[in-house]
Amino acid sequence: MKLIACTEGHSSKIEAFSLEMIAAARSLSQAGDKVVAFFAGRDAQAASASFGVADQLIAACAATSDLIPAETYARLLRDVIAVESPSLVLVPYSANGLDVAADIAARTGWPLISYVNEIKRDGESLTVVAQMYGGKILAECAVGLPAILMINPGAFPEATPGPIDTARVRMIDAEPALTSGKVKMVAIEVPDYADVDLTTAERIVCVGRGIGDEASIDLARNLATMLGAEIAGSRPVVDNGWLPKLRQVGKSGQKVKPKLYLALGVSGAPEHLEGMSHADLIIAVNTDPKAPIFNVAHYGATCDLFDLVANLSDRLRAGSGR
Ligand SMILES: Cc1cc2nc3c(=O)[nH]c(=O)nc-3n(C[C@H](O)[C@H](O)[C@H](O)COP(=O)(O)OP(=O)(O)OC[C@H]3O[C@@H](n4cnc5c(N)ncnc54)[C@H](O)[C@@H]3O)c2cc1C
Repeated sequence: MKLIACTEGHSSKIEAFSLEMIAAARSLSQAGDKVVAFFAGRDAQAASASFGVADQLIAACAATSDLIPAETYARLLRDVIAVESPSLVLVPYSANGLDVAADIAARTGWPLISYVNEIKRDGESLTVVAQMYGGKILAECAVGLPAILMINPGAFPEATPGPIDTARVRMIDAEPALTSGKVKMVAIEVPDYADVDLTTAERIVCVGRGIGDEASIDLARNLATMLGAEIAGSRPVVDNGWLPKLRQVGKSGQKVKPKLYLALGVSGAPEHLEGMSHADLIIAVNTDPKAPIFNVAHYGATCDLFDLVANLSDRLRAGSGR
């Protein structure tokens, strides 16, 4: 079986979930199989320095663009699929991956299964466990090959980064595909981190819609201050204007990796997990024992967040004599 693991990066950075895609492919592979990492971006060096766990790296690079748009990425990947004839293509559930997987599925006619958490292999048969209804239902289904699987962030541990030798690297010039596409990359805008840079925060207290209203955020903010943590929010909290955009964690917010992530009233939608599932210690508080945040949490409490915040704040205050 040949497996293609789709990876991403911009400028000279590799996205962390790239190593998860390679780990997922590697965990499925058996003797005689081949794991091919496909990379499209600016910096083939960064990919070559990291993807040693793969059997081969196909790197489509363009020196003129920091980021390869999904349209171009899909086009390059289609060419690779035509040559390599893989049985399985693993795409990350990322902003880019959403467009790429749909494009490939529509053009190849291959089945696409999204929100995949688990893949089981028995000989040449594959079964996946995929999330439905925001993770409240886990569906197990058999996969007819060839197929495309869109993998949830954090579903597989990252492969250990290491160099791949040059004999196993095939370079493709992405420039022609880039210039002939309809979508053009204009610029990457780096946010102004003067207020806060969650990406470097060591402790984060994140509030979700379960916090109820803007006024209640102060309770979580006070707790965060006592813990020496930054306050952050899920997208609904930011969309409601209760916290600024720079404090949003997730797919369309910040990708964080603190030592402590305390999630209060956050359900754990895949788009949220994409931003925080690599935190060292995740503690989740949610009244719903089936909330998907508990799938990634190291510790969880199925209690009312307001009870927990009040009790913990009292104890911290008593401990510090304040
Ligand atoms: C393209 C795209 C990009 C997205 N980007 C992001 C992103 O960057 N970040 C992001 O967060 N989301 C993002 N989303 C939205 C995402 O799909 C979810 O809708 C969102 O994460 C849900 O936020 P939540 O967990 O705060 O709210 P909900 O899903 O409504 O969950 C609230 C939780 O609070 C619990 N709760 C309620 N009251 C209490 C209480 N008193 N005590 C304890 N628990 C309680 C409930 O049981 C529930 O689980 C994106 C979606 C799309 C389509």
